[in-house]
Amino acid sequence: MAKTEKKEMIGHCLYCGQEVMVEAEIDSEADIEASRNCNCDNIIKRKSQLKALIEDQCGEGALRYQMQPVNKEAETLIQVVGDAILDRTIEAANIKVADTIVSISTSKSGCKMSRKRAISISSEI
Ligand SMILES: [Zn+2]
Repeated sequence: MAKTEKKEMIGHCLYCGQEVMVEAEIDSEADIEASRNCNCDNIIKRKSQLKALIEDQCGEGALRYQMQPVNKEAETLIQVVGDAILDRTIEAANIKVADTIVSISTSKSGCKMSRKRAISISSEI
């Protein structure tokens, strides 16, 4: 199937109905893209923001924080967990990966995420 070209079109936010100018191939895609870029607060926008946050903390962005990017499978898993938290399917999750602990949990407005180094040194003499 030939891939159609993206073009400028008007999408309607699925949550508030606002018209947003977006680049998309078809109307349904334009509406999702509009929801993502709309200035109202909605779940598609939140998921998109969380995806960017996960890429920042666990993808290539992690290097800026002196942490290793996690492998692709782990990043995909963290995305699934993040979506489940935004959907309120689960309340919180801690994932230990690449010597760090990724924590995502629900907050009053949506969710919060952190990544901490899991290495500790303990000595006794
Ligand atoms: Zn909206």
